[in-house]
Amino acid sequence: MDRSIKQVAIIGGGIMGCAVAYYLRRLGIAVTVFERGEIGAEQSSRALGYVRCQGRHRAELPLSVLANRMWETLPAELQADVEYVRQGNLVVAETAADEERLRKSCEAARANGLSTRAVDRAEIARISPKLHGPWRSGIFTEEDGHASPTKATQAFAAAARRLGADVRTHAGVRGIAVSGGRAAGLWTADGVFAADAVVCVAGISTNFFLRPLGVALPIQVVRSSNLETVAKEPFTRTGVWTPYISMRPRLDGSFAFGTGYRGSPPDHDLGAATVGSLGYFLPRYVRNPRRPRLRLNRDFADSIQRYFSMTASAAPMPDPVINEPQIAERLVWAQKFFPHLVPLEAARSWACRIDVTPDLVPAIGPWGPPGLFTAVGFCAHGLALAPIVGKTLAELIATGSSEVDLRALRPGRFRESDPQEDPVAL
Ligand SMILES: Cc1cc2nc3c(=O)[nH]c(=O)nc-3n(C[C@H](O)[C@H](O)[C@H](O)COP(=O)(O)OP(=O)(O)OC[C@H]3O[C@@H](n4cnc5c(N)ncnc54)[C@H](O)[C@@H]3O)c2cc1C
Repeated sequence: MDRSIKQVAIIGGGIMGCAVAYYLRRLGIAVTVFERGEIGAEQSSRALGYVRCQGRHRAELPLSVLANRMWETLPAELQADVEYVRQGNLVVAETAADEERLRKSCEAARANGLSTRAVDRAEIARISPKLHGPWRSGIFTEEDGHASPTKATQAFAAAARRLGADVRTHAGVRGIAVSGGRAAGLWTADGVFAADAVVCVAGISTNFFLRPLGVALPIQVVRSSNLETVAKEPFTRTGVWTPYISMRPRLDGSFAFGTGYRGSPPDHDLGAATVGSLGYFLPRYVRNPRRPRLRLNRDFADSIQRYFSMTASAAPMPDPVINEPQIAERLVWAQKFFPHLVPLEAARSWACRIDVTPDLVPAIGPWGPPGLFTAVGFCAHGLALAPIVGKTLAELIATGSSEVDLRALRPGRFRESDPQEDPVAL
């Protein structure tokens, strides 16, 4: 144990910030979380809710597998109902190219100890009897599941508080204080909050803190629009991924529908950060068949203001614009693939900004001046990974080493080479 670490300050009260706080408290370290809005106000309350290993990037799979195991006991440990269900995840293939991709994904999953298996049409019909469509085959992972992102985030925050963490809301941070070459605390509206270590888990805003220290990471922000339906007679608890939409059945009989593995692309709102890391993103953008659609909207002015003023960026973000045509399109696909649900209405739709790295896996670990740690760029996988990331970062901070090897996900990889996406990842 590093006895010099007595107080840790965390920027961001999303699921990562709350999970790190919880595991730090379990190690007996004093911790204060600063959240500019409400707990889980951004990605962590807007995720779809899959807790899945299936189809993950090879660099992320080992961590996903460990996280999945932790989810089994998480509700009991956090003393909270987080709507966690482990009834498998089914991915279906429409074309020969899809089948080839799923076959490789299945191989990678099995190499990491998962039970993922190829399924034929008959088995697809058995696993998801109400699913219609021209599916040639698929893959199925028994140990995958789903949970409520909002409840899971709140559960980590509540458990951290029960153990004595100071979790502050409406407490925007303006910068990281550095003293003697070390991260020494945070700049807040009340001055400097002193700490022995700082964890920057500010999601899409992480670079606002890293840039002044000269250690910005290549992060771009995409926007995804999703919907939840009205409740129907519950008929399944298994998550289903088609090429066009994904479907998470909620316990009350409603469904969350998001994009499929080659569905309509996300949006990218042009803003001050668009030009950051263009060297990484432009070549990928050009060759990406699902390249984000560039949008110019009210986010532009807001991003400029936040880019130049840390006080402005310490205020909660406005809700992102919802892509209504995309919502309508998802509802059409949903009724096509689950015809017994017709007529199906959206009860709620929402949009969310997502932090994305060039290789589509997160950057996790120490970064920048000694005493600073980050976990960012979860590319819409962070709910599932939160327990293992929280535990591993807490261990690293407290002891200087961790049981889990984070080398493949180290933040420095972008400077050392040109990291590549895994073409098999879904
Ligand atoms: C549409 C969608 C679907 C997704 N689906 C899944 C899924 O099915 N499975 C899965 O595993 N993951 C999914 N994800 C991803 C998952 O939601 C995220 O990876 C995860 O929530 C990231 O958590 P975080 O704590 O890093 O970020 P966030 O939840 O974004 O938290 C960062 C926090 O930092 C705060 N902050 C920023 N700046 C400041 C400041 N100056 N001062 C104080 N606080 C600040 C923000 O207000 C925010 O609350 C999805 C995400 C989206 C958007």
